Formats: sequence, C-alpha cells, structure tokens
Amino acid sequence: MYHELSVADRPLCHAEPGYARYAVSVDDFRSHLEQLSEDGWTGKSVTEALRSFGNKSVCITFDDGCETDLLCAAPLLKERSFGATFYVTIGYLGQKGYLTERRVRDLHEMGFEIGCHSMTHPYLTDVNDVQLRQETAGANERLEQICGSRVEHFSCPGGRWNARVADAVRNAGFRTMATSQTGINKANTDPFALNRVAVLGGTRSDVLLRTCRGEGLFQARLGETIRDSAKRLLGNRMYDSLRKSLLGNG
Ligand SMILES: [Zn+2]
Repeated sequence: MYHELSVADRPLCHAEPGYARYAVSVDDFRSHLEQLSEDGWTGKSVTEALRSFGNKSVCITFDDGCETDLLCAAPLLKERSFGATFYVTIGYLGQKGYLTERRVRDLHEMGFEIGCHSMTHPYLTDVNDVQLRQETAGANERLEQICGSRVEHFSCPGGRWNARVADAVRNAGFRTMATSQTGINKANTDPFALNRVAVLGGTRSDVLLRTCRGEGLFQARLGETIRDSAKRLLGNRMYDSLRKSLLGNG
C-alpha cells in the first residue's frame, strides 16, 4: 500500500508529519520495483491477483489519487510491465496535487486498474447510514461514470472499517475491500477484509522484499494491535489529535 510519491522540489499534498511519513520518494519506489523484478516478482492489480494468485505475485496499490500516481508511478510500473490498482478519492479530484477526472481516465487507458477510496475520505466507522451509502454506492456510481467502466474494488479511508462498513461496500457492488490491516492474503482471506502492508517513506528494498515474502510482519502487527486498542479507547478524533501532537505538529 503506497500513497503519494515524493519528488524533489515538489510540495506534498499535505505537509503534516502524519501524512508525510507515508510519502515514498520516487527514487525509492524505482529501486523497490527494480529489486522486485530482479528477484522474480510480478506486480499485479487486485483483479489480476484474484485471477491468478501465484507465487511471487505482489499486489501493488495506491490510495488517495495523487497526481504522482500518473506522473511518477505509472511510467515506472509500465517499464516493468507491472499492474497496480489506484484507489481514488472522488472529492479530491481536481484539487492541488491530486489527479483530475481526465487523468484518472489516462491512468485507466494506460491499463491500470482504478479502485474507489470513497467520496470524501471520512472514517467510515464514524458516519451514519445515509453518508455510508453515499461514500460507497454513491462513490461507485460516480467513479464508474468517470472511468466509463466498472469499478470493482474499494479501499477504506484511514484504514477504518468494521462489519457494517464491509456490508455497505458489498451492497454497493464492489467485489473486494482492502483494509490497512497488516498482513499477506491467502486464498481463504475474506475478500471484504483484505490485508495490506503500508510502505512508508524510507523503506529499503530488502525490507520490502522480506515483506513480500510475509516475513517480519509480526512486529508490525503487534504495533498495530496496540494502536487499534488506543483508537477504540480514545475514539478517532482524540486518537488523531494525540497522534498529531506526538508527531510534532500539535
Ligand atoms: Zn486515504
């Protein structure tokens, strides 16, 4: 799970440290792909991964719909004939640093898969039923209009989800829902609770390769369990403000 790629002299979509830690530099991304290729891995979109779930297949996803998806990630993926799924937030389209509708179509025409990352990027666990429908079914309908084809995969904003969210995503006509729960997926993994691994800024290629092999995920999962309990105890809003102040942007 990637987010925005960072490019020298180009400001990120958001400046907060909590956002910036998810930004991977283009150079690091290039070397990730290089290493994967050299080690015999193939990058796939969600649909491709569902179709043939072979050895040394890694599903590559991008959240949010940043402009660097098209400008930086897409050409590097193409060079290696890797597939990927780009989950787009519809409300962000056209904003500074994000894709436009035209550019979403460009990505799609290049052969990449477009997925949905909600309408306005709220924590879906916090919204009422009407909003939840709008963020899932409403977003699906709008994105299909933009792409001119079916949109079958959804990823949860901020990684927040529960059974109610999964039901809404299923009822909206999607085939899968990706969470931010750390882990690899197996043939029997619930398609409405797909695991992912966040690739953070500064991730070395050898660490990424180990992650693809499913190694070293235990520690990440442990940290996640602690964070999940804190989110439950504090609620999303208080958790976010605490996290902000801890990351030095109080
Ligand atoms: Zn997001």
